[in-house]
Amino acid sequence: MGQPTSRPADQQTKIKYADLHLHSTFSDGTFSPEELVNLAQGKGLCCIAITDHDEVSAIAPASAAGKSCGLEVIPGVELSAEIDDCEVHILGYFIDWQASWFQQRLEKIRAVREKRIFAITEKLKSFGIDLDPEQILRQAHPGSVGRLHIARLLKEKGYVASIPEAFSSYLGNDRPCYVKKFKLTPGEAIEMIRQVNGLSVLAHPYHLSDDKITSDFVRWGIRGLEAYYPEHTPAATEHYLKLAEKNGLLVTGGSDCHGFGKDKSMLGAVKIPYQLVQALKAEVGAS
Ligand code: AMP
Ligand code: FE
Ligand code: FE
Ligand code: ZN
Repeated sequence: MGQPTSRPADQQTKIKYADLHLHSTFSDGTFSPEELVNLAQGKGLCCIAITDHDEVSAIAPASAAGKSCGLEVIPGVELSAEIDDCEVHILGYFIDWQASWFQQRLEKIRAVREKRIFAITEKLKSFGIDLDPEQILRQAHPGSVGRLHIARLLKEKGYVASIPEAFSSYLGNDRPCYVKKFKLTPGEAIEMIRQVNGLSVLAHPYHLSDDKITSDFVRWGIRGLEAYYPEHTPAATEHYLKLAEKNGLLVTGGSDCHGFGKDKSMLGAVKIPYQLVQALKAEVGAS
């Protein structure tokens, strides 16, 4: 009989793991960049990517925190785009986030997000809901503001019992208080990421048909597919791994953690093998 061991299997085989989809307090997450780094380390991860919505301010503090504790931080972003009235999210990895034109572009996009908060709170009024848009903006400051901030306030004020209810009753894409954001096509989002030397990845692809992914996104220059995602069943993940392989796409994955912004923290719910990060690095020529 072999010696029993108390070490977890991950440590015995020294497999390293990453989570490449995290939101911080600079968008609609509830963990600061430093907290994300500390919590990720606690979950046994060796690498994370910060992917705030239309915002890159968390990258510097997260990288500094990562450096001091030995956790790798990949600079990322999550851009929203629209196609046929359907919202899609494009992740960008290894971006030159300091490029001034890129930051200016994001600033414009965030300004539209701010205006949108006024439009959404106006729509909520017809349901007898009175939220102060300025309070929502203050809550999100200095990061990018979004529907999750509104959802949180709706819950806090007792208008809904949960965050999912806020979306299913009012804020969801097909619900009465939905308001569109900055108009960016997926092709423009992919190009924006390419111009800052980043790798564009289609986030949570289960929102789209395979046909759309292979005929359109590949043609527009998408470089990868987020195959590992909390909402993907093992069969769905397997499906996207095959789809990526067939279409010459890279594979990524992450928990899409919003801290406690979506009722429960997802950090560590998805861990991808570090070899996938190495494949991304080989593609962008990063060390
Ligand atoms: P926004 O960028 O303002 O359009 O808001 C998008 C955010 O809302 C993302 O973090 C989404 O994950 C979140 N979201 C969208 N639909 C839902 C939903 N049905 N339940 C919970 N969160 C959602
Ligand atoms: Fe979000
Ligand atoms: Fe997303
Ligand atoms: Zn996300």
